[in-house]
Amino acid sequence: MTSHEKAAELRRALERRGIRDERVLDVIERVPRDWFVPENERPLAFVDTALAIECGQTISQPYIVALMTESLELDGTERVLEVGTGSGYQSAILAELCREVVTVERHESLSDAAREIHARLGYCNIEYWVGDGTLGCPDRAPFDGILVTAAAPSIPEPLVEQLRLGGRMIVPVGDEVDQNLLRVARTNGSPTIETLCSCRFVKLIGAAGWPESRSDSGE
Ligand code: SAH
Repeated sequence: MTSHEKAAELRRALERRGIRDERVLDVIERVPRDWFVPENERPLAFVDTALAIECGQTISQPYIVALMTESLELDGTERVLEVGTGSGYQSAILAELCREVVTVERHESLSDAAREIHARLGYCNIEYWVGDGTLGCPDRAPFDGILVTAAAPSIPEPLVEQLRLGGRMIVPVGDEVDQNLLRVARTNGSPTIETLCSCRFVKLIGAAGWPESRSDSGE
């Protein structure tokens, strides 16, 4: 099977799981996920599963990437913050569907590798920051949407503050093993919170996340 055929099959699998947004499905079918995974994982690049990447991190499962993206309800005009660049796959999906992506990663080597792949694929609406993304990116706030792609112990307050009114944040919140994927919408009053599904992400480490332990340094 060619990569194109595998990507078409992945699209159908996501449709069967309930992803409805055609723009999201088109982009998942088009962005070459195999470019974002280590060589030894390439045979599994179009399977609906999370895979290991450098620094002890993971590239999220395509279904979760699709669900998170769909839940932002993008119309192409937005500036979106991604916390956790990782492989850069989710950033590429976002870059296709909104105006501007600001992505923050704590591991410089991951950020650099993602930037290089994006350059080869021709993306020029992604901005890269290295640091603690639990603090958001005050220089570029407010954001129309925020995707947190690592698991937080609670909703990171600095990120809520960097959402514009009416903006949405998708964030996995829970313990180190199980989390709920939440959609948090900023309103005039207290934010509204919906649960989308249960999920399992690597830890969000930082001031408004988990403290770093020795096994988390990833180097
Ligand atoms: N969106 C990524 C998923 C990567 S896994 C992808 O499509 O591949 C989550 C990433 O979050 C890891 O790379 C991890 O290093 C990063 N991370 C964890 N805590 C962070 C923090 N406080 N700030 C920025 N990145 C963080």
